[in-house]
Amino acid sequence: MSDFSVSDYRLSTLPEDRRPVCILGLGLIGGSLMRDLKQAGWPVFGWNRSEKTVERASRDGFDASADLVATLQRAEREDALIVLGVPVPALASLFDAISEHAPSCGITDVTSVKVEVHELVEAHGLTDRFVGGHPMAGTANSGWAATMKGLFQGAVWVVTYDNAVEHASANTAGAGSADAASADAASTSAGQSSQRWLDTWIRVVGIAEEVGAAVVPALARRHDRAVARVSHLPHILAEALAVTGDQGGPLALSLAASSFRDGTRVAGTEPALVRAMIENNRTAVVEALDETIALLQQARSDIADPVQDMRGLAEDGNAARGRFEARAGRKRGDTMHRPIIRVRPGQRGWLNQLQSAESMGAQIGIF
Ligand code: NAP
Repeated sequence: MSDFSVSDYRLSTLPEDRRPVCILGLGLIGGSLMRDLKQAGWPVFGWNRSEKTVERASRDGFDASADLVATLQRAEREDALIVLGVPVPALASLFDAISEHAPSCGITDVTSVKVEVHELVEAHGLTDRFVGGHPMAGTANSGWAATMKGLFQGAVWVVTYDNAVEHASANTAGAGSADAASADAASTSAGQSSQRWLDTWIRVVGIAEEVGAAVVPALARRHDRAVARVSHLPHILAEALAVTGDQGGPLALSLAASSFRDGTRVAGTEPALVRAMIENNRTAVVEALDETIALLQQARSDIADPVQDMRGLAEDGNAARGRFEARAGRKRGDTMHRPIIRVRPGQRGWLNQLQSAESMGAQIGIF
């Protein structure tokens, strides 16, 4: 087993790589990333569709443009890492533009789903220079006005590694399996044959660490199944709770206190963003929703029957929340008790290290 410790200490000893970062989409996530990277002294520039955001960002002292072609041509000239800060429906046209105007840049994204994005990337022939990313941070607010410094501090930043597994599998003579363990024997040759992808992967880990995030690796499909439960389902439950409370009328809304406020917080998110997350992760969300509906139905029948009680759900829920707090702390900002695994990108054994980290929900550090 790889190194294991309990701390949020940043392990990376990556040589400092300050090649520029080009962010497409300067909303909450893209704009906040721009703020943090600039603050850290990193060369960063970006593009946004609406001129209003470009004007605001420029007024705040950032290098922003509304000219996509010129921005991508600059990214190509400066060997910038391109970060897509837009929702899924905007990705296809940006991949077309990147293919045409930035044909050798590494690419990453911040989108809340990963399988759909990887499929789009494959359809555009960009897999050898794309690494999926998902910072598990945000607020219910949108746009440049919502951007802030320190948004990613202490948050998890998921980084995918599907491409490495696929490469390694292809390089394993006679291999019939695509899992990381069997593919690992070929990881060294995979690393060599996919230097551009590996370079992109290391750069993505580098920017996530620079803004204070903890990198957790995950394959796209495993990421989507996990976030369906802990990110997408909460949006659905918050919307349903908000509607149910609201239907109680003015008195109910006047009496609503912190349990209603906390439980409905994410219902304040822009509806288009919620739809972009959930409608692009339908299978995994339906699986999680089915489990929740079964729990609610059981609770309903227990509550409706005077000779039953709802001890089962109350006790199971309390214990589950306790396990979450043991890992994540009682409140936002508490120290995470998450294992850390050191990896050596592209070296023999590294896919096993990533797979171990994924299965433990461990943070990785590069050395
Ligand atoms: P946001 O504040 O609403 O910003 C969205 C950005 O995408 C804006 O720059 C917007 O440009 C641009 N955009 C939207 N549709 C576009 C289109 N069709 N073509 C070009 N640009 C378009 O949203 P956000 O919260 O930063 O979300 C951005 C991404 O981060 C999404 O993929 C989301 O899933 C992901 N994410 C969000 C959170 C969160 O909590 N909010 C957390 C993690 C990841 P305009 O200014 O022109 O509208």
